[in-house]
Amino acid sequence: MRDWAHNAGMTDTGIARCPSCGTKNRTPVSAKGKPRCAKCQADVPWLVPADDATIAGALDASPLVLLDLWAPWCGPCRMVGPILEELSTEYAGRLKVVEVNVDDSPGTAAKFDARSIPTLVLLNRGDVVERIIGAQPKPVLAAAIDKALAATH
Ligand SMILES: [Zn+2]
Repeated sequence: MRDWAHNAGMTDTGIARCPSCGTKNRTPVSAKGKPRCAKCQADVPWLVPADDATIAGALDASPLVLLDLWAPWCGPCRMVGPILEELSTEYAGRLKVVEVNVDDSPGTAAKFDARSIPTLVLLNRGDVVERIIGAQPKPVLAAAIDKALAATH
């Protein structure tokens, strides 16, 4: 299980275990390119928290971005969280997951019209390509990501 209390805090990086060698890497909220393992250079999962102050930089990424608008009190969000963690690993190097707590970031919630959560938004270099409302099963999310990746190439 993920540590939701951790994600709700003021952390400005994510931590990703390298799928290839197991080394833990810090992953920045904003960066050009994509994170690679410091030890073996493999693509590492990119899953980071963001808020109203950091969201612009967080979404300006070259891999496809999956924005997760969630809140700690939202039961369905807790079901989606671990799925997004798995997807960030399976799509390492091709997908960046950005998690925004809508309670802490009303500006971002309003901008992306997160009236019901979870709301998932796929963005290609900042442009919205798909919105997914509610807790969807993993194959539905993977299909949306595949479709968006195919369109970006
Ligand atoms: Zn590695």
